[in-house]
Amino acid sequence: MSAPIAKSNQTKRWQEMDAAHHLHPFTTHKELAATGARVITKAKGVYIYDSEGNRLLDGMAGLWCVQVGYGREELAEAGYKALKELPFYNTFFQTTHPYVAELSAKLAEVTPKGIERFFFANSGSEGNDSAVKIIRYYWNLKKQPKKKVIIARDKAYHGVTLAAASLSGLTSMHPQADLPLPGFVHIACPDWYGKGGDMSREDFGIKTARALEDKILELGPENVAAFVAEPIQGAGGLIIPPSTYWGEINRICEKYDVLLHVDEVICGFGRTGQWFGSDTLGIAPDMINMAKGLSSGYQPIAAVGLGPKIGDVLFNSDEEWSHGFTYSGHPVAAAVALANLELIQKEQLVEKAGGASGAYFQKKLAELADHPLVGETRGMGMIGAIELVKNKKTRERFAEDLGVGYRCRKHCFANGLIMRAIGDTMVLSPPLVITEAEMDELFGLARHCIDLIAKEISVI
Ligand SMILES: *Cc1c(COP(=O)(O)O)cnc(C)c1O
Repeated sequence: MSAPIAKSNQTKRWQEMDAAHHLHPFTTHKELAATGARVITKAKGVYIYDSEGNRLLDGMAGLWCVQVGYGREELAEAGYKALKELPFYNTFFQTTHPYVAELSAKLAEVTPKGIERFFFANSGSEGNDSAVKIIRYYWNLKKQPKKKVIIARDKAYHGVTLAAASLSGLTSMHPQADLPLPGFVHIACPDWYGKGGDMSREDFGIKTARALEDKILELGPENVAAFVAEPIQGAGGLIIPPSTYWGEINRICEKYDVLLHVDEVICGFGRTGQWFGSDTLGIAPDMINMAKGLSSGYQPIAAVGLGPKIGDVLFNSDEEWSHGFTYSGHPVAAAVALANLELIQKEQLVEKAGGASGAYFQKKLAELADHPLVGETRGMGMIGAIELVKNKKTRERFAEDLGVGYRCRKHCFANGLIMRAIGDTMVLSPPLVITEAEMDELFGLARHCIDLIAKEISVI
């Protein structure tokens, strides 16, 4: 390994404070204490900068969220104005404020057809947790209290609260907290590259969709409340379902009166080339969850959007709904989210992701498929994945303990690129504002780092 890089005293101080006092999300703390955290101090456009002055091209838009890029004055000003005028007021007990009213109306304009009413939370996890409570409440109001089981999928990521982690199908998330909770079950996901074998994509799409029907029949439709899924699975490894999948899922949910809750936290706000993944993939949701791109990550805010089936029931209830967060519809977060949506519209970022920018991104991504280490590239709009494999033909993967993806990510860090590793699947989800020149840089760096890891494992 290379010699340790000299660090400034300031960096060392921050790393020491951090290692001593900060419990990080999704981090191995022993390893962190040994190496010291990377300290990010500023960001502009598609680049982030660390405390040692290194510049990194952020191929992940933070955590799939900074659609408009970093350092946008419009968002900073909207937040500042709200902070001065109304830094906080709640939306409990028949109260509102202009920021949340205007944001709600704007969301009704851009979300999929029929989604017109919104509940606000502060994170995607809280959104899904709230969605689970809405689903249960809906069936209680409909006098079908037995309909309670929620079906989700393997490799799903829906967040970390008790309910959201129970929805999640990344099994490493479960044992530490004795999850999933009762009433949450999982079925196979449409991971054709990993599990499709010799089947055509189309047949595999139908087969994995029918797993939902089998599970509903096994449990009894009278016991099944909802199916919950991401349009494209993000943290599970960028699993893009075959074209046959979602139509079949729509049909099955409709047939058995099972609510369809679509988690749009990653796919929303232009990522897939239209406003929502449901639009791009032809999904007919009864409700959706949004976060990340809703504010481009500038403020913590999430929203659950309700279609008429659920919305009409909740809005016509005589009893008080006993749910809501102190910061539901927080004025500063709502102001920034609204400014973000207006900027996305003004700069036509959704149209670009579905048009020239997205096409250029997908073209550059596909060019990596000729690399000897790359088994498949896949993507849609401004999201993409690169499978690093031992054998391109058989799709055989490297031994897990080789940590090929993890090492590739390390090369990326060292060479000025943020590319995420999910096992040996490398994932990209850059800010939607990325230019063609910046995409050239991104994919040049990605190829270089895949070359480096190819060289490294050939000598092991
Ligand atoms: C990130 C994510 C969440 C959780 O959002 P948090 O804001 O981290 O709680 C939920 N669903 C999906 C699809 C996500 O990608």
